Amino acid sequence: MKVLLISANTVLEPYPVYPLGLDYVAGAIGPDHQLQRLDMNCLADGQGLATVLEGFAPDVIGISLRNIDNTDALHPMSYIPDYQRLVDRIRQVSTAPIVLGGSGFTIFPQELMTLLAADYGVVGEGERMAPLLTALEKGEDPACIEGVIGRDGLAAKPRPWTRQAVRQMPAQPDDLGFYLKNGGMLNLQTKRGCPFRCVYCSYPHLEGRAMRYRPPHEIAADAVALQQAGAKYLFITDSAFNAHPEQSLSVAKAFKAAGLAIPWGGFFAPNRMPDGYFDTMADCGLKHVEFGTEALCDPVLRAYGKPFDVAQVFATHRAANAAGLHVAHYFLFAGPGESEHTLSETLANIDKLHKAVMFLFCGMRIYPHTALYALAREQGQIDASESILAPVFYQPPELSIARAAEMIAGHAKGRDNWVQGAGAEETGNILKRMYRKGFTGPLWEYLIR
Ligand code: SF4
Repeated sequence: MKVLLISANTVLEPYPVYPLGLDYVAGAIGPDHQLQRLDMNCLADGQGLATVLEGFAPDVIGISLRNIDNTDALHPMSYIPDYQRLVDRIRQVSTAPIVLGGSGFTIFPQELMTLLAADYGVVGEGERMAPLLTALEKGEDPACIEGVIGRDGLAAKPRPWTRQAVRQMPAQPDDLGFYLKNGGMLNLQTKRGCPFRCVYCSYPHLEGRAMRYRPPHEIAADAVALQQAGAKYLFITDSAFNAHPEQSLSVAKAFKAAGLAIPWGGFFAPNRMPDGYFDTMADCGLKHVEFGTEALCDPVLRAYGKPFDVAQVFATHRAANAAGLHVAHYFLFAGPGESEHTLSETLANIDKLHKAVMFLFCGMRIYPHTALYALAREQGQIDASESILAPVFYQPPELSIARAAEMIAGHAKGRDNWVQGAGAEETGNILKRMYRKGFTGPLWEYLIR
């Protein structure tokens, strides 16, 4: 069968993200089908889409939906209208069955099946596209496959994919070109699953709580292949790269042993790490760490379900600084337990984090299948029949989101290393100019104070 895989994501802030999931779907499909990819970031205009569809004439079209909205309570922007326009444009040219997948789809499968009038959906890991194609080819009903739903199907959560995950990078250099020209950052995944229980987070629903690892030498081989393809920087997309410290050290050492010469970074939890952890990582090429810190007030960290306390954040921050790493912290205000008092405490503590960039988000987006969803239900903020596909934000009983935003903006004023939200259009324009001048990597390191 001729299969067209489309990455629908066109969000470029805080930096363009290569559609890694498509590589894994392509790896699962293997040589059994004729495959073409289409990354909407690489497509200049709508006419290009029609040209691809008419030229390739796919039998099946898979669309990966990464994000639902920008999770910004102050300037909410839904991406659903873009997805609807994409499907409408496809339908003007092709009658091939449309299969939806991706992390955004997995959070809201039923709603998106209906809204986008898709034929099938793959809930959870995209590798199940492979058995779906086999079933379609044989004329069988794919909706019997675990994780696959039809138009009216109910999306039971599938078990994690336990067969080997195989990454197949694009054969066409053009598919990487956009990312190489815009920061040169490509990405890779070393494991799936997150064992932590942050109340607002949909990751454990998407990937499960049990961590499934790839062998370090295979990850290192992928990293070297990305370097050879022209990557100037690698981003590790794991939910928290250091969730298993020894595994992350093994991966870093495998990078060094394989001769990886480009810098890399990723998401980290500011947890307690073994002595010398960040020094070893830096010695193996780690350049930047992005900590999912969220608050610097112990009662709030407990209410958020974070696996560390304030003292631990400072200790881990100091260790990362001492290893010479570029450090960023993400904060998420106005969640459960937040009040003017706790917010003031967090803001005052952020001032004590030296040599770092702070990304500040105000308002906690409620996702299904999270403890936050259950709490919002219990507190009467949402009811079971209410759709939360259009973003709904948790309302802390003791503090309005608007007041929290006012306090944050007041405190952030004049602090160049405090970035509110993902930085929006203004940041996007600065990044584009820097990419044109040849700067590579995440670039927030230029804001470190
Ligand atoms: S916020 Fe990060 S550490 Fe917490 S559950 Fe989600 S992915 Fe895991």
